Amino acid sequence: MMRRLFPLVLLITSLPFPTPAGAQTAPADTSSARIIGEVFAAGRQLEYVNTLCDQIGSRLMGSSGARRAEAWAAEEMKRLGLSNVRREPYTMAASWGRGPASATLVSDTGARALAVSSYTWTPGTNGAVEGELVDVGAGRPEDVARVATKLKGRVALVVPEGADLSAVIYNFYRAPGLVKELKDAGALAVLVAADKPHAMQYTAPVEFTATGRLAALPTVSLAHEDVGLLRRLLSQNRTPRVRLDVRNQIGPAFEATNVVGEMAGSDLAQELVVVGAHLDSNDLGPGALDNAAGSAAVLETARAIKASGLKPRRTIRFVLFTGEEEGMVGSIAYVERHRAELDRTVAALVMDIGAGRPAGWFSMGREDLDARIRELSEPLAQFGDFAVEHAAFAATDNAPFMAEGVPNLILLQDETPYFPVHHTIADTPDKIDPRDYASAVAVLAATAYQIAERPQRLGRRLKPEEVKRMAEETKVGEQWRAAGIWK
Ligand SMILES: [Zn+2]
Repeated sequence: MMRRLFPLVLLITSLPFPTPAGAQTAPADTSSARIIGEVFAAGRQLEYVNTLCDQIGSRLMGSSGARRAEAWAAEEMKRLGLSNVRREPYTMAASWGRGPASATLVSDTGARALAVSSYTWTPGTNGAVEGELVDVGAGRPEDVARVATKLKGRVALVVPEGADLSAVIYNFYRAPGLVKELKDAGALAVLVAADKPHAMQYTAPVEFTATGRLAALPTVSLAHEDVGLLRRLLSQNRTPRVRLDVRNQIGPAFEATNVVGEMAGSDLAQELVVVGAHLDSNDLGPGALDNAAGSAAVLETARAIKASGLKPRRTIRFVLFTGEEEGMVGSIAYVERHRAELDRTVAALVMDIGAGRPAGWFSMGREDLDARIRELSEPLAQFGDFAVEHAAFAATDNAPFMAEGVPNLILLQDETPYFPVHHTIADTPDKIDPRDYASAVAVLAATAYQIAERPQRLGRRLKPEEVKRMAEETKVGEQWRAAGIWK
């Protein structure tokens, strides 16, 4: 998941519906109970997370870690007995490797090091650059305009504001335009305040239309303690100067792969349920919550259904997407490759909010799915109340499915363990509470199976004009355009 979201939640309590008088009680369906029991008793999700984080490590696209993870995941799918296991290739237009990055505060009280990390897919400084610091505030267009005449030959400091849904989405999609405007005004480089605790730095691409487009300027994350230092000096009119030396490696186009495996359905085998998460990560840490946790949950879903001796009516397709962090490049490639199957793709389920306890589903602008989601939540009553969040946003691999009108759900999870370490060095397996995580995995697995098994479809595919209307109403269309999902 690329950023924080939330609010406006429709709560679905898991109260059973009354049975009409005289109605025959159907034999209890034990499939959910078997799957949930399997996950809690024998689930391998933690083992998978540890393999991805401790044996493989960070999985930035193009890195050896990403390639090893793809190979490992395909092998694991085969070991689990999935069919049609394959790696589906697509092209990333450029590779990027992190080099050393340093920043030095040069002031009348002497030089001192600042804590910085480069954003990914940003250029290096091509030798050290040095300039006076200019505070660009929150980085909105009016903030840039206010200081534009002062930026030439200087280093820009941006301190994004706001933590609610709309503010964070705004900041995220504002980044590429902001950095371009700073470059046009003559800035040398950009320091972006990290919003993480304890001097942690954040990383992500600035240019998010992926496939390897580089940011307009060298851009680094600056620890918030150092932001405080620089702003105090500015307020004392001390005009701090910052020297920045960033040496990233930019390389040629390369091939990446999504990893796909299937559990064949029975009488409705032509219909597909996609269960997916992204296998890639950013590179400051090993991406335990973002998103080894989701990837491991996808594999465990396959394992637990098989181990329960169940065979779904529809085919479940397990997809480990790559290139998510660069702008959902892998899931966009998947949807393009499988366009002819989208009419018979009944749902895409995505997990990408870490390992926190499950709390419901994001239904991505779809209110017509509420009743079906309520039904699906009935066998999950022991996990507490489930909510349906209708907001639509492009933040992870469901987005290209949403743009095609395919019913798509993101598992709604407790976000409190997730955002403090998101895209940082501290996104490590110790942040996982095993019971909360098992609950999330069990909900994903049981729901995937029920969607594949129940006679009625989760929902219909929206017509193009309905998708357009939804995109306008929710403003998600602007995000699809920014991300290259809508050309
Ligand atoms: Zn993610």
